[in-house]
Amino acid sequence: MTNRSLLACLGLLAGAGLLLSGAKPLAPPPMATPAADSLLRLRITCVGDLMCHGPVFQFAKQADGSYDFAPMYAPVRDYLASADFTLGNLETVLAGTSTDYSGYPQFNSPNSYADALVSTGFDAVFTTNNHSYDRREAGVIRTLDELKKRRLPAIGTHYSPQDRDSVRIFDVKGLKIGLLAYTEFSNLTVPANKQYLVNPIDSALVSRDIAQARRRGAELVVVNFHWGNEYQRFPNDYQKQVTARTFAAGADVIFAEHPHVLQPVEMHKLPAQAQGFKVGLDSGLIAYSLGNFISNQQKRYTDAGVMLSLQIEKNLRTGKLRLAQVQYVPTWVFKGKAAGRDRFIILPSFAAKADQFPSFMQHLVPPELIYLEKSHLARMEQAYDDSRFILNNRYPAAHSAAWQPMQRLNPLEPPALRAAWAPAPLRGLPRLK
Ligand SMILES: [Zn+2]
Repeated sequence: MTNRSLLACLGLLAGAGLLLSGAKPLAPPPMATPAADSLLRLRITCVGDLMCHGPVFQFAKQADGSYDFAPMYAPVRDYLASADFTLGNLETVLAGTSTDYSGYPQFNSPNSYADALVSTGFDAVFTTNNHSYDRREAGVIRTLDELKKRRLPAIGTHYSPQDRDSVRIFDVKGLKIGLLAYTEFSNLTVPANKQYLVNPIDSALVSRDIAQARRRGAELVVVNFHWGNEYQRFPNDYQKQVTARTFAAGADVIFAEHPHVLQPVEMHKLPAQAQGFKVGLDSGLIAYSLGNFISNQQKRYTDAGVMLSLQIEKNLRTGKLRLAQVQYVPTWVFKGKAAGRDRFIILPSFAAKADQFPSFMQHLVPPELIYLEKSHLARMEQAYDDSRFILNNRYPAAHSAAWQPMQRLNPLEPPALRAAWAPAPLRGLPRLK
């Protein structure tokens, strides 16, 4: 988000339909025209794992010894910066230079890794994952300090039990959004008396936090989970069970990651609505795994990610929220030598089909594309097709009839692309019964 503009037209009420009892009107009473609903619209965009494997920071190293990660995001920056609220999972720690920078298995990355996230448009990062504790308590605390200095909120890791218990609520264009994050595992064991450092997935805790967010005025509750089986393209039973419990506890949206590959997105009927919650979305969305956004993993499926965008509408007259549209831009990471130089960049993978673009769409082609060879483009196209397959996949309804999978996502390419590739007009998501 680059601009937080205030919506000026706050709740214009046409409450002027006064009828004076007993008095005969001289003229026919005016037709009671209901006020046009004014809508607040905002776009939330989330990506998956932001990894910093050894080759990632080696590529970012400059001649003077500093690190600059921002160019890696250049081809996707506009998509992220233009959203009203941009999120991702920071899967490394900024533990400083007292030990060396390192990639897998115990990460430690330069501070400038966070600078690039800020300049790319991220508004908050989830920091609870299996690598949060890679540099123990000092690493958790220093990461929080460095993010704080950059005014990039961290969700899911904490300084203290009190800090943990104070749920983060953001005001985005006037909509109050509660953000929560939890992880299924930690590679190094977090001491039992310091669990607040790295939020674990614990259904009682999640429910308590959701309730607190609602009590404190959150109209939308977004939960992040770091979970699942690595390299599996479909969610396991644990993910499905936690999802059901989290929606039942009142969450609206679940963004998740860790498998390093994409997993399906589904729509759920929100039990919370049925239980009489006054606020919240009309239907819940779960993204089981958003895959790698940036990493050194180069194998099929692991080199692909996504920028998943939800368009939320708030009716300013009724206060009701609606998930108006779900869109996505699949991404692909290129690492290697191209046109005589080492490069490491994230690309919108629809660009693999750039040779089919008519001339009026040429401006959508990232300039970095000219460096890529045919074989690179073929891999990118494969990633694009793989991602669309999984994101549009109709995951069969499981045990409960209370929810159903969404029919289809609208691929978010820029509008011209949508028109060219998706002949059916964009429509809102099907209403769940
Ligand atoms: Zn992970």
